[in-house]
Amino acid sequence: MAAQVPDPQQVKKDTYAFERSQLEGLMTKRFFYTQAFEIYGGVAGLYDYGPSGAALQTNLINHWRNHFVIEEDMLELDTTIMTLSDVLKTSGHVDKFADWMVKDTKTGEIYRADHMVENVLEARLQGDQEARAMEAGESPTNLTASSNDKKTKKKAKSVAVKLQDDVKSAYHKILAQIDDYSGAQLAEVIKKYDLRAPGSGNEVSEPTEFNLMFESNIGPTGQTKGYLRPETAQGHFVNFERLLDFNNGRVPFASAQIGKSFRNEISPRAGLLRVREFVMAEIEHYVDPENKKHARFSDVENLVVPLLHRDVQTAGDTSLKHISIGDAVRSGMVDNETLGYFLGRIYLYLESIGIDTNRLRFRQHMENEMAHYASDCWDAELKTSYGWIECVGCADRSAYDLTMHSNRTKRDLVVQVPLKEPKIYQKYVANLNKKVLGPAFKKDAKLIEDTILNLDQNQLQALQKELESGNASIQANDTKFALTKDQVSVEYKTIKENVRSFTPNVIEPSFGIGRIFYALLEHSFWAREEDKDRGVLSLPPLVAPFKVLIVPISSNEQLSPLAQQISKRLRSLGIPARIDDSNATIGRRYARNDELGTPFALTIDFASVAKGTVTLRERDTTAQRIGSVDEVIDVVKQLCSGRLDWRGASQILPAYTGTQDVDA
Ligand code: AMP
Repeated sequence: MAAQVPDPQQVKKDTYAFERSQLEGLMTKRFFYTQAFEIYGGVAGLYDYGPSGAALQTNLINHWRNHFVIEEDMLELDTTIMTLSDVLKTSGHVDKFADWMVKDTKTGEIYRADHMVENVLEARLQGDQEARAMEAGESPTNLTASSNDKKTKKKAKSVAVKLQDDVKSAYHKILAQIDDYSGAQLAEVIKKYDLRAPGSGNEVSEPTEFNLMFESNIGPTGQTKGYLRPETAQGHFVNFERLLDFNNGRVPFASAQIGKSFRNEISPRAGLLRVREFVMAEIEHYVDPENKKHARFSDVENLVVPLLHRDVQTAGDTSLKHISIGDAVRSGMVDNETLGYFLGRIYLYLESIGIDTNRLRFRQHMENEMAHYASDCWDAELKTSYGWIECVGCADRSAYDLTMHSNRTKRDLVVQVPLKEPKIYQKYVANLNKKVLGPAFKKDAKLIEDTILNLDQNQLQALQKELESGNASIQANDTKFALTKDQVSVEYKTIKENVRSFTPNVIEPSFGIGRIFYALLEHSFWAREEDKDRGVLSLPPLVAPFKVLIVPISSNEQLSPLAQQISKRLRSLGIPARIDDSNATIGRRYARNDELGTPFALTIDFASVAKGTVTLRERDTTAQRIGSVDEVIDVVKQLCSGRLDWRGASQILPAYTGTQDVDA
C-alpha cells in the first residue's frame, strides 16, 4: 500500500488562538515592515516595508496586473500624484472628502467620531456579556470579545455592567448602521448615550469635519494649489478623451492604475489598515448606461460568493447569504452584470493570493453611506483581529465624474455611436442673439446665456410663451433679468440625429494593497502544534517573498559550489531563491524561513555532491522528498508556477527516508 502523502491543506493550524502581538513581533523580526522614521520616534500612519514586505507587496501587485490588466486587456495608466486643486474641487473632494472628529474636552486628544462611538459601544456590550456570564457563574474569559464583530474591535477595558435589553439592541443597531451616520446623528448618539473619550472618560466636543487631503502648492508663487491625490481615479477621468481614442472610440473598456494615494487620517491606530500613505490599485470600467452587460459574465456566473445585503444591515443584522453571482444579478440584489462580474473577479483574485475565503464577505453600502451619485456599491471585507475591514470597494459611480469634469472644462467627455436608423424628434431650442445680449447685460451677459442654455424642455416651453406675451424674464444667481424677443428666441425644432451620444457610466473596483497585505498575513499565520513560538506564514508560492531556501547541511566548503549552482539555475528561471549557509542549526534555518513564508527548501548534503541528489522540503507539512538536482528543479518550477501541487510533486519524487544520503 502506498504511504499516505502529507497534505499541506490538512495540517492542523488552529492549535493556538491567533495573537496579534506574535504576528507583529514576527513582522519586525523578519523586517516585513516597520514604522517610518522609527529612530526619530516614528509617525503614526506611515510605514516602511523591508525586504520581505516589499517583495510580498510587489508579488501582490504583479499578480494583480496579471489577473486584471493583462487578463482583461485593460489600458494601464501612470498619472501624477500631485493633483491640481481644480480637479479635486470638481470631483467634490475639496468640499466633501472629510471625516467627523471629536476632541477630548480635557486632554485635547482627537478621535475619529464614528470610531469612538464604535469602541465605546463595543466595550459596553462586552461589559454586559461579562456581567451576564458572572451572574450565570461562568468565567468571562471564555467569552468572545463582542457579539457584534464589525470593524475596529479594540480590546477595550470593559466594566462588567449589565445593560437593559432595549439599550443593548439599540447599541447593536447603531453598530450595524454607523457607516451610514451623518455628523448630526453621531452628535445625537454621543449625547443620548453619554459616550465619553475611551482613554480618559472625559466628555468629547461636538463632531467637526476634517478634510483628509494633504494640501500643497505647485511652483514657487503659491498661486497654483495642489493636493496629494487621495485616490488614483481622477487621473483616469481627466485622460478619458485620450483613453477613448486609444480604444477606437468604443466602450466598454477599462483603465487601470497602481500607485500611491494619501489621506491625512484623523488618528490612525490600526497598523497597516489605516495609514496616511498607501498603494491603491484602481480600475475604471466605462460602460454604456443602457447596457451594463459584461461579455465575460459567464466566467463568474456560477461562482458562489458571501453577500451581506443592505436590507439585512438596516435590520441590524450581519448574516450572510451565499449566492451565485448569476442569481445575485438576476434577482436585482447586485445592480448589474458588470458590477457582478467584478465582484467575482475580486473574489478570485483574493482567493488566489491566499486569502481565507471563509473570512471574506461582500457588504453592500446602505443608502446614505453610498456617494449620492452611485447606483450600487459593494465592499470586499476581510475579517482580521481588528474586525471586518473594507479592503476593496466596488462601486457603480454612474456618469458622475465624467459629467462633472465635462461641465467644468466644457470638453465633451462622451461616446458617440452611429445609429442604424436616424432618430427624428422635436424639441425646444433656445437661440441666443449675443450681439444684442452682450451690450444689454454687459458683465451679466455670460451668466444669462449659461442659464438659458441650461434650461430644461419645460422651462424652454414656458420661456417661449413668455417671450410671445412680451413678459419674459430669467432668474440667475438670485437676480431676475427681463428678456426680449430680439435678445433670445425659442423654437420648437425637428431634430434628426445620426449618432447617439452618451456619457459612459463608470464601474470602479478600488483595491487598498496594504490592507490586503495585512489581512493576508493574519490569514496565513499560525504556530506549530509542538511549539507555540514557532510561527509559520503559509503564503502561497505565487506571492511568497522568497520561493526557495537553499540550505547546505553544514558550512563545509565542498557544499558551496553546488548551492551556488542551484541558486543560479533557479534565478535564471525567475524563481527567487536564497542560500542560508549561516552557522545556525538546520532546524533553526528552516524555522526562520517558515517565518518568511518560504514555501520550499532544498537541502544540500554530501550525497548531493557525491550523487547529485537534493531533498525538497515543503513548509507546512515539513515533509521531504528526494530526487536528482534536475528533477527537483523541474518540480520546484512547476510548484512555483502553480502547475503542480504537493500531492503531484510527491508522485514524481519519492519520500526522503534519511537513508538515501551519505554523511560526511
Ligand atoms: P475608498 O476610496 O475610501 O473606498 O478606498 C478604497 C480602498 O482604499 C479601500 O477599500 C481600502 O482598501 C483602501 N484604503 C482607504 N483608506 C485607507 C487607509 N487610510 N489606509 C489604508 N488603506 C486605505
